[in-house]
Amino acid sequence: MPWSTDSLLIRGGRVIDPANDVDDLLDLLIDKGTVATLGRNLGAPAGTPVYEAAGLIVAPGFIDAHVHLREPGFEAKETIATGTAAAASGGICAVVAMPNTVPPPDCAAHLRMVTTRAAATGTVRVYPLGCITRGREGRRLAPLDKLARAGAVGFSDDGDPVTDPDLMQAALAQARTLGLPLSPHEELTPGRNAGPEAAPAFHGASPEAEEGMIARDLELVRLTGGHLHVAHVSTARGVALIRRAREAGLPVTCEATPHHLTLTQEALTRHGSNAKMNPPLRTSRDVEALCQGLRDGSIDVIATDHAPHTEAEKALPLDQAPCGIVGLETAVGLTLTHLVHAGALDLKTAVDRWSRQPARIFGLPGGRLNPGSPGDVTVLDLEREWTVDPERFRSKGRNTPFGGWPLRGKAVATIVGGCIVFQDSTNG
Ligand SMILES: [Zn+2]
Repeated sequence: MPWSTDSLLIRGGRVIDPANDVDDLLDLLIDKGTVATLGRNLGAPAGTPVYEAAGLIVAPGFIDAHVHLREPGFEAKETIATGTAAAASGGICAVVAMPNTVPPPDCAAHLRMVTTRAAATGTVRVYPLGCITRGREGRRLAPLDKLARAGAVGFSDDGDPVTDPDLMQAALAQARTLGLPLSPHEELTPGRNAGPEAAPAFHGASPEAEEGMIARDLELVRLTGGHLHVAHVSTARGVALIRRAREAGLPVTCEATPHHLTLTQEALTRHGSNAKMNPPLRTSRDVEALCQGLRDGSIDVIATDHAPHTEAEKALPLDQAPCGIVGLETAVGLTLTHLVHAGALDLKTAVDRWSRQPARIFGLPGGRLNPGSPGDVTVLDLEREWTVDPERFRSKGRNTPFGGWPLRGKAVATIVGGCIVFQDSTNG
């Protein structure tokens, strides 16, 4: 990969590396693509480029654990090239790619279509998930062992949960022997939100449907010992179920999205299909429970569920428009503005949820700044004020409810393997 062997000295930033309990003004030297040294007044071999980071935060490269790159099969929505460029411009150094492509990665050859394409056109690292079942049809297990050998970092059938409990149990048992997580969407039955805040016309997964699937899968984890990573948990009770399972020692992790952490279901009335996703937006009580879960570690990571669609698709009537919104270019700004600056999450924990935790869950090499780790770094300007402008996204998708939002805090440089793959143009 073109970025993997560069050298760079990042000078004078506030380095926050939760895995090593570091929060200090330090220089960071990346040598030939990997972290070499962290220290004061570091020298570098002649000719090494220097990035001046005074006044900025230097963090281990952020990893987005839930991204839809759409290639192969849906290149009108997004490609690996545009999706990873969007990741870079949002401060994300690596993405875990969801398998709802055509063909889906349900065999080694299909999975290699993604890794080969990513090596040729990707701006950031791409770690694919393989399918749990053949064709994502929920009938026969995919060859999980072969997918793992071909580079799958976990397994999911994405928007189609595995409804057959025996099949899910077999998948968890096999994933355990492979040491990889299963990351199902827990969205079983089309239902709808109840209560006064419920918005009309869109029937997403009801809270009960989501919680029922989580409860079932937690029971299967208890039976098998397989690692379950619950994608985008969205309800207070879902978080409570997961918290209890973790307290009982079960190998369960989970993620929450920036939109479930910042919006409630009224957004659907205002933004229509640009606030339509699955699981749907919930109530303010759920939002508060998600923030609490993120703080206390019941929720391990913030992940975007970046889901680009074409303008024509999202222009359909609400009940026909596809689910999902883009997130790669707004996630870090939303995290800093609405969680860190709002006092809901301290900065070190936010960095942890974006770097160390996703690396740990999917067994990825990054997430920390130890010597020998990938030279992946996200540089943040906590005070940068900016306004979300979807027309400037590098993603093909413009489907976001956050257009026009004023944000405070931004990723101003994205460094992958020592190479600056994105630098904010207003930052010199
Ligand atoms: Zn998804």
